[in-house]
Amino acid sequence: MNANNRKLLLLLIVIALIAGFFLFDLQQYFSLEALKAKQAELNAFQQANPWSMALGFFVLYVLVTGLSLPGATILGLAAGAIFGLWQGTLIVSFASTLGATLAFLIARYLLHDVVQERFGSRLKAINEGVRKDGAFYLFALRLVPLFPFFIINLVMALTPIRTWTFLWVSQLGMLGGTMVYVNAGTQIAAIETASDIVSPELLLSFALLGIFPLLARKLVGFLRARRALAGYPKPKAFDRNMIVIGAGSGGLVSAYIAAAVKAKVTLIEKHKMGGDCLNTGCVPSKALIRSARFLAHARRAREFGIRSAQVEFDFAEVMERVSGVVRQVEPHDSVERYTGLGVECLQGEARIRSPYEVEVGGRTLTTRSIVIATGAGPFVPPIEGIEQIEYLTSDNLWELRELPERLLVLGGGPIGCELAQCFARFGSKVTLVEMAPQLLPREDPEVSALLDEAFRSEGMELLLDHRALRVETPEGRKQLICEREGREVVIGFDQMLVAVGRKPNTQGFGLQELGIELRQNGTVETNDHLQTRYPNIYACGDVTGPYQFTHTASHQAWYAAVNALFGGWKKFRVDYSVIPHATFTDPEVARVGLNAREAQAQGIPFEETRFDLEELDRAIAEGETRGFVKVLTLPGKDKILGATIVGEQAGELIGEFITAMRRGLGLNKILGTIHIYPTLGEAVKYTAGNWKRNHVSEKTLDWLMRYHRWRLGN
Ligand SMILES: Cc1cc2nc3c(=O)[nH]c(=O)nc-3n(C[C@H](O)[C@H](O)[C@H](O)COP(=O)(O)OP(=O)(O)OC[C@H]3O[C@@H](n4cnc5c(N)ncnc54)[C@H](O)[C@@H]3O)c2cc1C
Repeated sequence: MNANNRKLLLLLIVIALIAGFFLFDLQQYFSLEALKAKQAELNAFQQANPWSMALGFFVLYVLVTGLSLPGATILGLAAGAIFGLWQGTLIVSFASTLGATLAFLIARYLLHDVVQERFGSRLKAINEGVRKDGAFYLFALRLVPLFPFFIINLVMALTPIRTWTFLWVSQLGMLGGTMVYVNAGTQIAAIETASDIVSPELLLSFALLGIFPLLARKLVGFLRARRALAGYPKPKAFDRNMIVIGAGSGGLVSAYIAAAVKAKVTLIEKHKMGGDCLNTGCVPSKALIRSARFLAHARRAREFGIRSAQVEFDFAEVMERVSGVVRQVEPHDSVERYTGLGVECLQGEARIRSPYEVEVGGRTLTTRSIVIATGAGPFVPPIEGIEQIEYLTSDNLWELRELPERLLVLGGGPIGCELAQCFARFGSKVTLVEMAPQLLPREDPEVSALLDEAFRSEGMELLLDHRALRVETPEGRKQLICEREGREVVIGFDQMLVAVGRKPNTQGFGLQELGIELRQNGTVETNDHLQTRYPNIYACGDVTGPYQFTHTASHQAWYAAVNALFGGWKKFRVDYSVIPHATFTDPEVARVGLNAREAQAQGIPFEETRFDLEELDRAIAEGETRGFVKVLTLPGKDKILGATIVGEQAGELIGEFITAMRRGLGLNKILGTIHIYPTLGEAVKYTAGNWKRNHVSEKTLDWLMRYHRWRLGN
């Protein structure tokens, strides 16, 4: 019998038992009158057969609660009337827990997967909440007899709460209510109706008890925070409302927001204002890409009907232009601009001395809150012999003025891919080494395959599935030894660019002394509000992750600043529901939300709709037909789960999907929006059109055909 048939059989048995209960009118035996009438008989039987009675009663109770039948209340009273307070409580307490768990397991077996599959993405927040605080919620619900127990059993079964947690929390949570009913049962003669048992006062005290675990949780959080702060005397007055450490994307935005709401804020930067993005990341890399693209276009002159286009360049001048672009953007992040906005900018290395004190340049400043925005730096893997060579990273690459003849790029992630393609276009013989079987390992294989093809067609050598083992320099010749399928591969090079990931900057400024925890991947541990273990010390950007983009750093910065300044009144959880990113290779790769790889890994059902750029008029006119748009939707629905675009301007085009996802607009809405002809942006609309075409019902079309034939009149 397969799983579905087994489920069906169980469902039929449960339905039959419940139907039988009502058909044979067994309800009549679960009334106060019936209990009173039979009490003498039951007591006599219990006197004569104490064990059989206890066992029989236990099984009956488990069955009634397990099948979610009405009657548990009366059985609770009966337990008191028959067994007395203590024995009755013992029996009912265990039987009700067992019955509740049985109902929970049946519902989970029959419904959990269906519900999670269908609504998994929408239940994400609830699932997360239950995973974290499920025991608290269940305990609160169990304490308040206002919530019907059988509904709690069924609802909890649909969440990810563990069975064992459900069992022990139920046992504990129901104990108070059980005792009230069993105790009432010992006075059964005095009870006329069920409402005699639970007075409004009693219900209110239970409701208060129900709130208690939630209050207790808040209290635990408060005490934990107090304990963390206990060893540090709180200043009577503070110099600053907020001190921000690091003037990169995260730090600048935090400071900006604080100043905008008139807080006294100090921003401390030890190196250059603007951090990585301006000085060694997004800005110089995009400037370099621009020059490299120009060269690539010139080489394609014939494609555009131009017989020849001669280009001459000096790599040093290209790099000077890159520096010029950085200088041009610099004022946006400058001390002058931020001072003008009301931020005090200090140059120097900050060190957190206590949760209330930051030291910089020999001064100690007191502050109510601290935002750590110290970013990340290139991660250099411990490859044997790597220290023998002067390798390049995204930090020192920008000082290069001589084009490497043979450049080995270690790492096929976004940074490695963007830079490798640039250098290949400038004329370096580029070899890219990647441990994973594909470039951009987080993207779907077809995305990486397109990039792979593009890179190879430009003469780059791609060594995928290659693990770097060691660097050797026999007779001054530099070579990297890699392992592939158990064999060693030797790759010669002149310069090596290490681009295998980023390492958070967490050392040397007081985190260890304060015991601020780091995660396994080295990022600063923060909660949903971006707080560290000290409630007034926050972190945002690359130093805490989980994303390492400029736009996510500034997104988090809002939460860090607002929570740091106003968290005493209201704190906000960071919203990571719609996170976009782009890799600025040619073709560009941009994505928002899930791709197929992630949806499969998370067990989220999806439909995939694709539109190829070779069908788009503007792409044809531009000679940029390489690429596609792919959108993931909920099966049968136009709700967008994620979109990936590969092609010219993908980073710009993805914007429409970002807005649609953020604002809950489906593909039908995109389809109903006028897009300018002829633009690349039409690709988004045509993808929605493809989706629509796949969802037109054949039956409807059939009827429409008949209608039109009828209108022809022949
Ligand atoms: C080559 C490259 C290309 C990239 N391209 C993109 C892109 O196209 N799009 C994108 O979104 N992202 C891109 N990124 C990533 C982006 O640069 C980062 O995600 C972003 O800079 C993170 O900002 P942040 O504020 O967290 O840290 P950072 O920008 O690193 O800023 C941290 C600052 O803190 C300072 N600091 C550290 N410790 C102290 C201390 N103790 N006292 C005082 N100051 C301190 C540092 O000097 C630094 O200035 C790229 C990165 C690289 C390397």
